[in-house]
Amino acid sequence: MKIESMVVLPMAAPYLCDMGEPYSTTEKIGGLAVLLRADEGVVGENLLIAGSGKGLSIIAEMVRSLEPLIVGEDPRKPGAFLAKARAELKHLGPTGVSLMGLGAIEGALLDLRAKIAGLPIHRLLGAVHERLPAYYSAALWPHVGLDGLQKAARNIADKGYWGMKLRAGAGKLDEQVARVKAIREAVGYDVKLLIDINQRLDERRATRLGRAIEPYDIHWFEEPVDGRDHEAEARIAAALDTPVAAGESAFGLDEFKTMIDLRSADTLMPDLQRVGGPMEFLRVGELAGASRIKVSGHTLPEMSLSLLACLRNADCLEAMPWSAPFYEGELTISKGDAIVGERHGWSQGLSVKAMREYALVKADI
Ligand SMILES: [Mg+2]
Repeated sequence: MKIESMVVLPMAAPYLCDMGEPYSTTEKIGGLAVLLRADEGVVGENLLIAGSGKGLSIIAEMVRSLEPLIVGEDPRKPGAFLAKARAELKHLGPTGVSLMGLGAIEGALLDLRAKIAGLPIHRLLGAVHERLPAYYSAALWPHVGLDGLQKAARNIADKGYWGMKLRAGAGKLDEQVARVKAIREAVGYDVKLLIDINQRLDERRATRLGRAIEPYDIHWFEEPVDGRDHEAEARIAAALDTPVAAGESAFGLDEFKTMIDLRSADTLMPDLQRVGGPMEFLRVGELAGASRIKVSGHTLPEMSLSLLACLRNADCLEAMPWSAPFYEGELTISKGDAIVGERHGWSQGLSVKAMREYALVKADI
């Protein structure tokens, strides 16, 4: 068995937000599909996304440059491809665009292997979970007023999600606390509330805000400071009773190992695009588990769910609809949990119709 061809397809789709409503009629989200076709007609797939599509063309070129190394290879020997590709890319360094390019191909290779085996990815790799708690992530933005926050929070709770995420950190401390309080008044304490600072604060302000909102039972306090400052993250994690989540901006196993050694977070959240592919995602998860640290994902729930389902220390899934327009079907939520799909390959599969509709170039798919 061998890989016959690779398609790298840039796309642009509606940028979904706030329970499926687009941010605006004009703004688009960029997608990049990587499709590997094997000689028996099986196609392995992977997706990358980027708001407005900036940067995806560079990753696309990186992936295309690796085509001579992957075409003709046996998809059941992904390690051989990765070793060869890492050696070729040594002059560019082991992280950044090189790592994203490798990960994009490795994700498609894993999907291909699962399809060849006739199994969902979580069953191929050793499923621990059939379902994972899911929190809704595309609402409760900093620009929304208190009434709007309460309305959106009730809407998310009514839809049956396990939790919801508030973006915070912009503005005065008492205003931020008032926003958390307003959500708790609207939905009570049966639903989880997660707070994402998106790296907006310095260490002192983050620690003060983290302490001030502790009475409101926060599931986690995410990316409180600059996502590269893992020592400051560790000091904040030590200062707060509320768990800290971080790592969506980290690249590769080495950076996560630094975070684990420092105890920068109680939950690590590797991003499938930056961590360097699905196997690196799982290695981060296992390494974190050995230090009693939990793991979650970042965006791309259609694929992250398959991997988190294999980790004993999985915390929860980010239900983020940005990638949804590119996929068949919807994320299935039942009693607060996302249900892992039983189709062969990733939990959800890319939609051929959507790829054709949103493609920015003509491609053979
Ligand atoms: Mg975040």
